Amino acid sequence: METDARLMHAVMARESDLVALTQNLIRIPTLNPPGLHYREICEMLAGRLEARGFEVALIRAHGAPADSEAYPRWNMVARRAGAHPGECVHFNSHHDVVEPGHGWTVDPFGGDLRDGRIYGRGACDMKGGLAASIIAAEAFLETCPDFAGAIEISATADEESGGYGGVAYLAERGYFSPDRVQHVIIPEPLNKDRICLGHRGVWWAEIETHGRIAHGSMPFLGDCAVRHMGAVIAEMEDTLFPLLASKRTAMPVVPEGARSSTLNINAIHGGEPVQPEGYTGLPAPCVPDRCRITIDRRFLIEEDPAAVKAEITALMERVRARRPGFSYEIRELFEVQPTMTDRDAPIVTSVASAIERVLARQADYVVSPGTYDQKHIDRIGRLKNCIAYGPGILDLAHQPDEWVGVHDMLDSAKVMALTLGELLLAKQQPEA
Ligand SMILES: [Zn+2]
Repeated sequence: METDARLMHAVMARESDLVALTQNLIRIPTLNPPGLHYREICEMLAGRLEARGFEVALIRAHGAPADSEAYPRWNMVARRAGAHPGECVHFNSHHDVVEPGHGWTVDPFGGDLRDGRIYGRGACDMKGGLAASIIAAEAFLETCPDFAGAIEISATADEESGGYGGVAYLAERGYFSPDRVQHVIIPEPLNKDRICLGHRGVWWAEIETHGRIAHGSMPFLGDCAVRHMGAVIAEMEDTLFPLLASKRTAMPVVPEGARSSTLNINAIHGGEPVQPEGYTGLPAPCVPDRCRITIDRRFLIEEDPAAVKAEITALMERVRARRPGFSYEIRELFEVQPTMTDRDAPIVTSVASAIERVLARQADYVVSPGTYDQKHIDRIGRLKNCIAYGPGILDLAHQPDEWVGVHDMLDSAKVMALTLGELLLAKQQPEA
């Protein structure tokens, strides 16, 4: 209890430092796409952490998607070993942010502090979480210099575009191997009292129906690919969407609507290409010979990915059976397996206990409808003991006037500091 109080005090004493650090991170506009200022933000963090005794590596994801001389994908990994052997707790944050978009009433890269909130693109997603984890680690190092194991902090690229130039690249090179790292916290904005255990699965595919081009005044001489696709979508409405809605998961996904399987039709296109804006000609009369849709199927941990794909093939075959001349192709684009960390995993129980001690309430357990970098830590790194936990309100992410509350950052930094205490102190200090 004594240690808890000292850790919380050390976090509170760093409030102005936490605010300034968050503001400075927001003021580096690490926009993705295209991937701006990645080196700059990594160097800023490296300088700070080196001064606090961390060993720092700057790693460029050479050859990763979107990596180029103009837009190199830089990552930073910092490690501070303790006085005794033990386990490693790793805090992983992405440093990239999405475009500001329209509708801001403050400078999206100004980092304004107003009424206890820091505003800016990336404030909650997730520079506030990154800053909170740094403050937590620094408060812990000062309070408990004699700890066992190691603390790692990483700032990684491209989470917003799949994480291939960031966590995936590092995981492939052993940075998240279970012999190096035993516990991972990703400080995404899930609210200071919620532990995110994982996410649903994803399958993206493109479906194309084929037809035959002919003059639009004699459509009976051709075969309309758009009408074929219309039949596909009608079949989805009749059979697939009701089936998906009936599949329910035991995963505690929020929002509640995402506790079923879902499918979104991201795009549809058939016939002649859309002309550039300002083009003044009329369209040509042709029967479209191709129509494409892109589907985004989100699946549950209870579903077999092969069955998810077979469902679509079976649907296409039902349509084929009743439409003469119907032919199609399915091209797979992208796939991520669902993942969910056990509630009794050590990182979960440690953070839950810290939430109870700091906030005097029980932790909530949630699962994300969409994926984040945990997918790479799980699949490539083979590390299951991983959660997302951090300050900020998820709904504000990617919105205008995004903000993070200073009080929430302080609370979650306390939770993170107490978690370090739980995982890096307990084992070397037997009960008296
Ligand atoms: Zn994020």
